[in-house]
Amino acid sequence: MIDLATLNPQQRAAVEHGEGPLLLLAGAGSGKTRVITFRIAWLVQARGVAAEQILAVTFTNKAAREMRERVAELIGSGQARKMTISTFHALCSAILRQHIQRLGYRRNFTIYDAADQLRLVRDLLARHDFAGRGFAAEQILWVISDCKNRLLAPEDFHPAVNDPLQQAAAVIYPDYQQGLRACNAVDFDDLLLLTHRLFLEHEDVLEQCRQRFRHILVDEYQDTNTAQYQLLRLLASHGNLCVVGDDDQSIYGWRGANLGNILDFEKDFPGTRTIRLEQNYRSTGTILEAANAVIRRNSRRKEKALWTAGGAGEPLELIEAPDEEEEARLVAERIQAERYRGRRWREMAILYRTNVQSRPFEEQLRYLDIPYRLVGGQQFFDRKEVKDAVAYLKVLYNPRDEISLLRILNYPRRGIGPTSVEKLIALCNRRDVSLWEVLRDPDEAGLTDQVRGEIALFVRLIDTWRYRFEQADDLQQTVRQLFDELGLEAEIRRTAGSREQGDRRCEFLQDVLNAVGAYQNRETAPSLAGFLEKVSLLDDDRREDEEDAEDAVTLMSLHSSKGLEFPLVFLVGMEEGCLPHRKSVDALEVEGGFDPHLEEERRLCYVGITRAREKLVLTRAASRRKRGRPEMREPSRFLQEIPERLFTGGAVSGPSPEREEEKDRRAKSFFSDIQSLLGD
Ligand code: ATP
Ligand code: MG
Repeated sequence: MIDLATLNPQQRAAVEHGEGPLLLLAGAGSGKTRVITFRIAWLVQARGVAAEQILAVTFTNKAAREMRERVAELIGSGQARKMTISTFHALCSAILRQHIQRLGYRRNFTIYDAADQLRLVRDLLARHDFAGRGFAAEQILWVISDCKNRLLAPEDFHPAVNDPLQQAAAVIYPDYQQGLRACNAVDFDDLLLLTHRLFLEHEDVLEQCRQRFRHILVDEYQDTNTAQYQLLRLLASHGNLCVVGDDDQSIYGWRGANLGNILDFEKDFPGTRTIRLEQNYRSTGTILEAANAVIRRNSRRKEKALWTAGGAGEPLELIEAPDEEEEARLVAERIQAERYRGRRWREMAILYRTNVQSRPFEEQLRYLDIPYRLVGGQQFFDRKEVKDAVAYLKVLYNPRDEISLLRILNYPRRGIGPTSVEKLIALCNRRDVSLWEVLRDPDEAGLTDQVRGEIALFVRLIDTWRYRFEQADDLQQTVRQLFDELGLEAEIRRTAGSREQGDRRCEFLQDVLNAVGAYQNRETAPSLAGFLEKVSLLDDDRREDEEDAEDAVTLMSLHSSKGLEFPLVFLVGMEEGCLPHRKSVDALEVEGGFDPHLEEERRLCYVGITRAREKLVLTRAASRRKRGRPEMREPSRFLQEIPERLFTGGAVSGPSPEREEEKDRRAKSFFSDIQSLLGD
């Protein structure tokens, strides 16, 4: 039997809540995620709910994995494996894999990533003669994504008359959607949008899912967007919905999350039982006091005060550096000193507002040989070599995936140059068929015999390997054979600037094989489809397994740090313009008074502070380089909101001449490092 004695009375009440909607509204570190985990175990063990009937939704894949592990610890991995514990996107993707043909797609659809999406939008902008009219593809995508998160199909989107960007997006959106469909592809937001449509248009599918998931639990509910909310409403018509969240930690408003979802829950689900937790088990009294002092300034929130039964703990520390290089150096040295005192690397994290801030920290950590793990930023699967290799796998899975097909058509180089490709595309448009079909029958494209020969070979290659993958029982081995036959290594070396560079880039290929191997070891029924699913759905935490095991300092953005905890946290870049971020500072000046952006920045700061368990170090730079020029920086207003008595030590002194020299020397050695890494 699971031991509920380790829970406080409110937590226990939530765990043992019977049927009907349950809202757990509670501050950071009060055990919300822990309650979900225990409740799942309790439902299965005390209530006899079948594990298959449980659906738990988390915000990241990493969180899902952790939750499954915790549940396994409580009631065994056999049970835990039978549950659905995943993100909204992964859940929807699984549902669509089963039923998407009902919406006119094929089941082997591809999920486009950001780069694929951008390429499609750029094409469309050019085709509609918007090129050069000042619309960035990113902005257009932003508007489209926002529509999708609000469940607006192209025909439902009515752009504001006086907003040229929205006007342009309204032109692109229908074609974009058609473009995806022609490639049998969906984007990330489509996963939600299409599942919602599927539910509305095909009652039987919805009913099947309802029957399946008798108990639904959602973590980080404050960050659900409209699409997710509507999906939940449809699925949870039985009312067995338990959501947990903290309105003070709502930090995805910019991506369409709707704080109203949590504030209105009691209205939307009549008969809701609401439980509040105020005891914090994570942080010291000092850290909590700082967090409370900051978040108190927000006007639109449900009042709550966190407290802890633990002591005040260590005081906060403030490091004030003259510039960002010094800031990073002081933090890196501090981390090293902590290591000497016995703290593990993995117990420490550096949290920042934007990913670009990581660069100086990476340099300094590298200089001191401190192992670190960067979450977000340039991703492994974004590297060219990796994308090229994975594109083959994608085409083998779904030959209609045009973007991947274009990527590999002449890679490795096989004499199908840009002019030929243009002719092929023109034929696609004339005949209104997919590129893959044209490749099978390119006679009317007006190509030379030689190119036609190459195309025939390419098509045969794809067909042969599609067959081999269908028959394969060792996925990794098959992928290895494919790469060998294609001569990817030779191609990489051919285009590399130097031998070392070639070696390094070939390692990426090996990493792909490792990723396939790791996937294969993890799954009971590994398949190419399953692997690609992981590649497209895992965002921040891709090579998670190896990384979790590693003892390394974590570098991540505040957004990615949600739900996590570390004994020692460095919250860096505590400056106006950085945290709060520039765009919200400006907004304040325009609107005056209540500013939703500034309030979201304050929540972000609150999330950062409350990640720390034992000690919090805040840092700021007096000047920071912007496009090469130093810019003076004021301390963050949030810094000033924290009572001074919580700090010790005071500011760390500025640069001395020796330090300047030292910096110079290190900068040089670092850049030669980087150059040899990049090669070009
Ligand atoms: P966040 O808002 O940051 O997601 P949370 O409310 O989900 O936080 P948890 O991560 O569940 O909080 O818990 C915070 C920490 O407190 C964890 O280390 C957890 O194990 C511990 N904890 C929670 N409840 C208890 C309890 N009753 N007794 C001991 N430790 C607890
Ligand atoms: Mg949590």
